[in-house]
Amino acid sequence: MNIVVVGGGFAGVKAALELAKRHVGKITLISDETYFLHHATLYATATGRNTAESVIPLNVIFADYPAVTVVHDKMTAFEPDRKMIRGEKKHYGYDALVMALGSVTTFFGIKGMAEHAYGIKSLAEVRKFQDHIHEEVVNKKLDKEFFVIGAGPTGVELAGALHEYLQSLIKLHRLKGSRARVTIVEAAPRILPRLSKTASKIVSKQLEKRGIRVLVNQKVQALDDDSITIEGNKVSTRTAVWTSGVANNPFFPSHQEQFHLAPNGRVNVNDYLEAMPNVYVIGDNNTVKHSGMAWPAFDQATFVADHVTRKIAKRHLKPFVSKSAPCGLPVGEGWGYVEWHGVYAAGKTGAWIRRQMELYGYKQLVAPKLAREVWRAHNIAEIDV
Ligand SMILES: Cc1cc2nc3c(=O)[nH]c(=O)nc-3n(C[C@H](O)[C@H](O)[C@H](O)COP(=O)(O)OP(=O)(O)OC[C@H]3O[C@@H](n4cnc5c(N)ncnc54)[C@H](O)[C@@H]3O)c2cc1C
Repeated sequence: MNIVVVGGGFAGVKAALELAKRHVGKITLISDETYFLHHATLYATATGRNTAESVIPLNVIFADYPAVTVVHDKMTAFEPDRKMIRGEKKHYGYDALVMALGSVTTFFGIKGMAEHAYGIKSLAEVRKFQDHIHEEVVNKKLDKEFFVIGAGPTGVELAGALHEYLQSLIKLHRLKGSRARVTIVEAAPRILPRLSKTASKIVSKQLEKRGIRVLVNQKVQALDDDSITIEGNKVSTRTAVWTSGVANNPFFPSHQEQFHLAPNGRVNVNDYLEAMPNVYVIGDNNTVKHSGMAWPAFDQATFVADHVTRKIAKRHLKPFVSKSAPCGLPVGEGWGYVEWHGVYAAGKTGAWIRRQMELYGYKQLVAPKLAREVWRAHNIAEIDV
């Protein structure tokens, strides 16, 4: 069987690995990047920690899987009638296709946001942010307010790490008199709006205790080179990081005649995660409950590998059952918050559980020894600006 998997992220990599373990045939993994990006640690890579915990080359992941061929290409067109997907370099025929293209950032049309905001969703964005901080230090400009826009888990973990990073840079470079301060802004009435009220309360308190300003119920209206406008107030800043707003990968809206999209732009799939016969759409791309997080992406990938294997063996087919995943976030080093099914842990225990969750994630993708190496890279500071 010829199986094409598109996307070298959580869902695509896991699907290719699980298919290879089941010896179902020839697998081609196509991605527009040559590496797997571990989003959950990008906040740390952006604030002086080692890139190795966030970036794993795809050829390293698949080194011991001869059934998997890794191809670097960007998919642009789809011809299901001919069982073919086209890239910028080549076209690829398939017997089964697994699509896991992930999501993209959306700025909700806020004036100047796309042009002036920094981001931490891709390696290129992280590099740009690192360069900016470097420039600010060289030019001794760490004297302003740094804004993190959006207080979901990504915004909160970035705010915590950025605060610690700025303090360490001020000390290291003797930037006496620097008034650098981090402010996190959220349009909803509370931070972490998708987590429990307990999470909002405890984490808010922890952010403020560390000297981070928390603004809720405040809409950012515009951003330019040296200022941000929040609820009509213009405040001077040279750094605002956008962590809000995700939309489905533009591949799907540009193929609306082939995919059935929900109002939120994600792809509707059947009980077997198929958008059409033998075309599986998984991870952030579909409307399945709990999609949008890493562990549900792993679950869907494993399901598809099992489903394809059952189909080949003409065994009974089981529908996919979606499971929730714990949500964990660090606030600086040594403090974290994790919650799952109404139970939570905060403080050192929360930080420890969150670190174990990361290790578990790496173990889903690489051998245990490499997983530990990558995981331990978190403790190595990389940038000495
Ligand atoms: C900053 C950040 C922090 C996060 N933190 C957490 C967390 O702590 N816990 C958690 O559970 N979830 C977290 N998430 C969400 C989690 O990362 C996603 O749910 C997960 O990545 C979804 O996996 P995926 O495979 O669907 O997409 P992705 O992992 O994004 O993979 C998509 C892949 O497709 C490739 N691709 C895209 N377009 C094309 C194309 N046209 N052709 C070929 N290849 C293409 C991309 O390069 C990428 O390799 C975070 C996300 C972000 C952005």
